Amino acid sequence: MIESHRETIQELGIPKALRHYIAGGFRAEAKRTLPAVDPTTQEIITEIPQATEGEIETAVQAAVKAQAEWSNASPGRRRKTLLGLVEALKKREKDLPRIEAVDVGMPRVVSQQFSSRAMLRHLEYYAEWADKVGGHLVPSGASAESLNYVVYEPVGVVVAIVPWNSPFLFFGSKVAPALAAGCSIILKPSELASVTAHTFAEAVHEAGLPAGLVQVLYGDGDVGRRLTLHPAVNKVAFTGGTGKGRDIMAQASGTLKRVSLELGGKSPNIVFEDADLSRATMMSTYGMFSLTGQACVAASRLFVHRNLAEGFVRGIVNFAQTLQVGDPLDGSVMLGPLISNSHLERVDSFVRDAKGQGARVLCGGEPARVGKGNFYPPTVLTGVDPKSRAAQEEIFGPVMCVFEFDTEEEVVARANETIYGLGAAVWTKDISRALRVAARLQAGTVWVNAYGTLPIQSPFGGYKQSGFGRDGGVEGILEYLQPKNVFVQL
Ligand code: NDP
Repeated sequence: MIESHRETIQELGIPKALRHYIAGGFRAEAKRTLPAVDPTTQEIITEIPQATEGEIETAVQAAVKAQAEWSNASPGRRRKTLLGLVEALKKREKDLPRIEAVDVGMPRVVSQQFSSRAMLRHLEYYAEWADKVGGHLVPSGASAESLNYVVYEPVGVVVAIVPWNSPFLFFGSKVAPALAAGCSIILKPSELASVTAHTFAEAVHEAGLPAGLVQVLYGDGDVGRRLTLHPAVNKVAFTGGTGKGRDIMAQASGTLKRVSLELGGKSPNIVFEDADLSRATMMSTYGMFSLTGQACVAASRLFVHRNLAEGFVRGIVNFAQTLQVGDPLDGSVMLGPLISNSHLERVDSFVRDAKGQGARVLCGGEPARVGKGNFYPPTVLTGVDPKSRAAQEEIFGPVMCVFEFDTEEEVVARANETIYGLGAAVWTKDISRALRVAARLQAGTVWVNAYGTLPIQSPFGGYKQSGFGRDGGVEGILEYLQPKNVFVQL
């Protein structure tokens, strides 16, 4: 495993040290660095620079200048620029899944079908919005001899702070609507996902985007913190954990920046007696264990009707055990490693706690011994105390908690019983019940007889402490625009 990763890293031409991408150029190598570790082999891939105060300042000033010019660029030019970036990324299309695999342990096939593909789709989709956002006339009560209209203007300089679990997807979902709206953007990737950001920066450079329009600053959470405090930054687009989301909101409050927060989840997946059981089994399993459970919408709380619980859960366990855990570069692997050893320890602590409180482990339940990676197998728990950490908190690992229910009324109440509200699913052939339950679930996305499908045209985001703001669809670009009303007395 180690040899094949070493060869891949060499073949991909990943430099020995990354350099910030500021004002259209790559900076000199930094003195202070952090190691980027391959979660499969534990080997150091490269060194990540930690942005200094001076570099942050230079980047913000470059973003201010670039944004002033970009906001005047014609919609056609914005569209062409975004499509140019797509072309530059497409030249690397074959490499993107392998880069995501060594950087964050995402299986090559999953990156191909999901993350790197979604990045390109976001850029293509929002390129087409660039010349479609206009404004509207407002019927004015003031006087017939007046003109009253609304135009949508860019919010200005955006800082995007993103997590490590699907980095390519997040670069696309933040950069694409920001540029289409006329904003400039500074990306602060997770310190655990910087190699992917380097690839993105290279593509931006090759596509010849105006200097300062898209920049990449590396470093730990403190770099993100300083960016969110900067008075010249107008908006923070954040995807990450709910705890960090609270910090971001507090940091942004000093200068009353706009904030959008795509945060964690603890999604309920409800299976009624009349569901299509074979499809529900398959999608509930993928919905939970894809990305090794490191997905904000993971189907982590399965509610199954008591009358079918035993057989249905056995089906999930059997299917989950067929999913191959191992080297993310291997095309047949579905579950790569967890991102870090400390994260593996955290995931395991939830399982240990649950077991200590009487939960039963139907499969998995302890780290998998596969080479040096942070592997954890698909784990299914029953008998979990609904008030416990495992039932209430986001584990962000391959751990499904199963609960049985008797009535619709009861399951809706229990499904809503967490601080989160990101995704939820209902499995039933009774359309009236499906729509009734969908209406009552407190979640930004509800799937009926499906799980995890997120068309780019749909607004994706949270209710409750899963955050606010939306990625995708027309709502996604509106996050980067502000309405200006102009009243003209004729
Ligand atoms: P974190 O919240 O720990 O970090 C997210 C980003 O914020 C990272 O780039 C991090 O940098 C940075 N950061 C940390 N502290 C600060 C700070 N004080 N100010 C500014 N930036 C800061 O999330 P993870 O990276 O661990 O990702 C996992 C989480 O992301 C899960 O909870 C998951 O649910 C959520 N998520 C939500 C999604 C959604 O769309 N709703 C989608 C995917 C994930 P660094 O890593 O360098 O410390």
